[in-house]
Amino acid sequence: MPITWELRDEDRELFANELDDFVPDRVYDAHAHLYRELSWLGEAPAHVSAGPSDVSLETYREQMDWIVPGREVHGLHFPFPPGDGNMDNDAANEWVSEQVRKDPLARGQFLVRPTDDPEWVRDEVRRLGLRGLKPFASYSGVEPVGEAQLPSYLPESLVAVANDEEWSITIHLVRPRGVADPSNVHWLRTYCERYPRANLILDHSARGFNPYHAIEGLQQLTGYSNLWIDTSVACPPLATIAALRCLGPRRVLYGSDFFCSHIRGTNVGLNDGFAWLDEDLSVWEGNPWIPTMRPVLVGLENLRAVKAAFWALRMSDSEIERYFWGNAAELLRL
Ligand SMILES: [Zn+2]
Repeated sequence: MPITWELRDEDRELFANELDDFVPDRVYDAHAHLYRELSWLGEAPAHVSAGPSDVSLETYREQMDWIVPGREVHGLHFPFPPGDGNMDNDAANEWVSEQVRKDPLARGQFLVRPTDDPEWVRDEVRRLGLRGLKPFASYSGVEPVGEAQLPSYLPESLVAVANDEEWSITIHLVRPRGVADPSNVHWLRTYCERYPRANLILDHSARGFNPYHAIEGLQQLTGYSNLWIDTSVACPPLATIAALRCLGPRRVLYGSDFFCSHIRGTNVGLNDGFAWLDEDLSVWEGNPWIPTMRPVLVGLENLRAVKAAFWALRMSDSEIERYFWGNAAELLRL
């Protein structure tokens, strides 16, 4: 996915016109990647060469000024996943550890492989001062990766350790129908019920890029106090609506998915799938009715969708504040 890595007038205008009155002064970002180029053993992904190659806590905060200008930002951080399995995970985790130690309100999750020994993981996470796990389906070994079932990248033995330690686990669901997939529903219910002190966070509004999947799946996942949603980079408002209605406003968290927040474009549900409309697609070339189309940063499109969802559900100011801060404060025991 191309990334231009620049802030444009249309980004500033959209925030000023539509978001400045919605985003509070203080924001907790429950999904923000920190990384440095050296962690990749081969060639680093394109965004690393397009933007800052080493994303420290300070660099991340400077960059977040593009999405939430002037706001105080703290976050839950983890490495960025490898492209082709070519990452030094130890170095990537060390980097996140070094960065989150700079801020008492920052938290970190450990990039974990399903083959990692659970007791080694427990010791490493403690040693690094992290408090959670970040699994990725790309480590499952399943081909194609989009078919991976949850235990293939998040084995039960790791959830058991997270339960002992009261950690969070941020999960990017896969399988074609995302959270509506019966296997995903089954394993999420199983883990939530067996491990009530492990807090599971479903990112991207439970991968709600197709919001109809979110509606269908999240209705089967209500009533768990240890199940949370981060809304990062999911641009359909209906995805946030599904999260708020099914899990309740006390379980939904703001997340930027930095650096994905800095991709220019949006994403939409299409039939039984979804598409990312990034800047180089012809869809932005305009038409006789709208001759000039100017895509903005995905992080801004996401915030606008969230604002629309809160408006549609008549959410209160205190619920908005909880979304941007209070829910994360409770979950992460800030
Ligand atoms: Zn992410």
